Amino acid sequence: GNELRLGVRVAPLREGRVLVLAEDRTEARRLEEIRRDFTANVSHELKTPIGALSLLAETVTEAADEPETVRHFASQMGREARRLGELVQDLIELSRLQRANALMAPELISVDQVVDEAIDRMQVEAMSRNVQLVLGGTTGLEVFGDPTMLTAAVRNLLDNAVRYSRPYSRVAVGVSYAAESHEVRIAVVDQGSGIAREHQDRVFERFYRGDEARSRETGGSGLGLAIVKHVVADHGGRVELWSTAGTGSTFTIVLPEAQITDVAPMADVETH
Ligand code: ADP
Repeated sequence: GNELRLGVRVAPLREGRVLVLAEDRTEARRLEEIRRDFTANVSHELKTPIGALSLLAETVTEAADEPETVRHFASQMGREARRLGELVQDLIELSRLQRANALMAPELISVDQVVDEAIDRMQVEAMSRNVQLVLGGTTGLEVFGDPTMLTAAVRNLLDNAVRYSRPYSRVAVGVSYAAESHEVRIAVVDQGSGIAREHQDRVFERFYRGDEARSRETGGSGLGLAIVKHVVADHGGRVELWSTAGTGSTFTIVLPEAQITDVAPMADVETH
């Protein structure tokens, strides 16, 4: 059986206020299981580019007197090495997130600032692919959490949106507020290749990659959306996906709005 276990965590905020967080401990157990089969997955994923690299090295050595061939295989080696680098980078990020107590000291964060920073870091890549990044106005909305992790999550969505976009298309980021549910929504909208319905649930799995993505020449480890899902879940939120193959995708990070409740000071307890 999978009974629900709740825990409560109290985090101090400024001005003597505290934040009380209810946690679902079944999530902790699920993460433990994920950690267990993680090693098997990782070694499998590392073996592929390493195998390719040593095969290519052999080929280059044998073709030493044919400059054209050497050039061709050397550039393939470069590509495999970059892929390996990205994979390792994503693995480091994911394992950092999977550490217990990753969100031990949540801060009050400006959502506008998180989005601005993520866009800033994507600008060069977007320009090199002739994709225009468009941002709506500022909102003044705030959430609780880890600014570095949230920025990484938004950046990962932008990274995908840009990579799966056609040149001369747009990627739009919009922040909005759902008053009924007190939720902050960060939507990343692209006009790219889109995701067929049958893949839409699976894209959030670790190492899952679309057919097109797998055969593509540049980038991607299949970990990006797993990281996004993980970060957002840690913040008590969820990720929504709306997409039509051939038309584009909208990934929306939905987070609870930061609400500060004043807590009455505790009575002094005498301890003799
Ligand atoms: P990857 O490194 O392959 O991009 P992700 O976990 O970020 O890994 O994404 C998993 C898969 O989801 C991708 O391989 C791709 O098929 C699909 N995908 C993700 N984002 C988009 C997008 N904005 N447009 C189209 N397909 C996407």
